[in-house]
Amino acid sequence: MFEWARARVADQIEILHWLYNLTDEQFLLDLEDTLVSQANDWPRFFSSLDPDETDFRPTHAVNVSQAMKYHPVRFQRTGQEADRVGALNAIQLLREKHGLALGMWSGTETLADQSDTQGVELCSIVEQLLSNASILKVSADAALGDEQERIAFSLLSASMTADLHQHQYYTLPNAISAGQNRVGDLQFADDHGDDLLVSPHAGFHCCCYNLHMGWPKYVQYCWMLTADGGLAAVAHGPSTVSFSAGEASFTITALTEYPFEDDIRYRFESDQPAEFPFLVRVPAWCSRPRVSVNGVPVAVDGPGFLRIERLWSHGDEVVANFECEPALKKNASGSVTVWRGPLAFSLRIEQNRRIVTPQPPGFEEFGLDAGSPWNYAIVTGKSVADLSLERREMPANPWRPETTPLVIRAKGQRLEGWRMAEGHVRMETPAPSKFKDERSDLEDLLLVPCGTQTLRLTAFPVLEAE
Ligand SMILES: [Zn+2]
Repeated sequence: MFEWARARVADQIEILHWLYNLTDEQFLLDLEDTLVSQANDWPRFFSSLDPDETDFRPTHAVNVSQAMKYHPVRFQRTGQEADRVGALNAIQLLREKHGLALGMWSGTETLADQSDTQGVELCSIVEQLLSNASILKVSADAALGDEQERIAFSLLSASMTADLHQHQYYTLPNAISAGQNRVGDLQFADDHGDDLLVSPHAGFHCCCYNLHMGWPKYVQYCWMLTADGGLAAVAHGPSTVSFSAGEASFTITALTEYPFEDDIRYRFESDQPAEFPFLVRVPAWCSRPRVSVNGVPVAVDGPGFLRIERLWSHGDEVVANFECEPALKKNASGSVTVWRGPLAFSLRIEQNRRIVTPQPPGFEEFGLDAGSPWNYAIVTGKSVADLSLERREMPANPWRPETTPLVIRAKGQRLEGWRMAEGHVRMETPAPSKFKDERSDLEDLLLVPCGTQTLRLTAFPVLEAE
């Protein structure tokens, strides 16, 4: 094998396993051994993140996200503990060394630093959703479900326009301008000059083909079977699943507007009763989870998979409530991000659109400039009002900032000295840590889910009130 094939061997091995399970042909496993001997040494790389010159582009972030399924795929053959937990350890290391405010790690296209103006390539976002599903299959680690939701509802939604007609190549925590730039003017390891252009084919032309698997893969792996014949809701959202429990056929529908509402109502339909375990993932951000079966409360022991084993019948209903509070999370850069469950929130910024390349209506390439102030620090501490959540009516599309059904109110202070750098394509500094503290000019800030906007301030400098 050569080059990219050496880096992306895990997908090839996964297909060999699929074919082996159908045919029992031993030569497929021999071929796997040959592939492993020629491939990148991913176990070595994932144990330290130190690149080895014998591997092909191991720090390329899309290779990293795609290769994250190497350990779980190999585990199905080796059964070794190192393969069961290898990817979980790698996620931890990536977060420590390259973790960004939006939950994943930087990669432009190489793993970059932890600056709030570094980005994540759209291909990495969708590959990570797919790899996380593989890791979840062998680890049964409920925290991966939390990861899936954060990536889908905050990063994937932020990478595309609300109608999915356009996307950006890189998705950044903080980006106050979108459009074309002189190559080298942005802080990316690979700067193509149109990575922030809002376009049907921004940046290098890989994401425009790869992006389509993002939401379908999220939905495909919302539900999983358990090894003992049960069914598990591993990532939440409106969905329907059909499965067999012995002779019985069940269809279970999750009725919900999650993550924009906190209740999930699971309605059971079946042709006959059957006993099986039904598992619901309780997210770690929910401090008071509540679950009931046909109106009778069930004891919930914190985050993880809640297992309910009983005789299930047509008409049964499980109701889960995952209410949670808005929370400030500190980023590696020193900035903070407001999260509420899987949604990261961003300052509401007016976006002035300018067409760059006319295309058929609705598919234009365009740039965006901020039409309202963006240079705010967020105020935290006891003497100011807490972050307050406000609910609005659920619209047809929740990913538009004007009508999104969840907003958060906060207090902020304008940092007059924090400006765009010359050329107006990027900020002077990602997020300043020191500035004059003048309590008099505190302002009310409106925050919206970061996925509703292309321009965004998600990593805020902090003003600590007394
Ligand atoms: Zn790509």
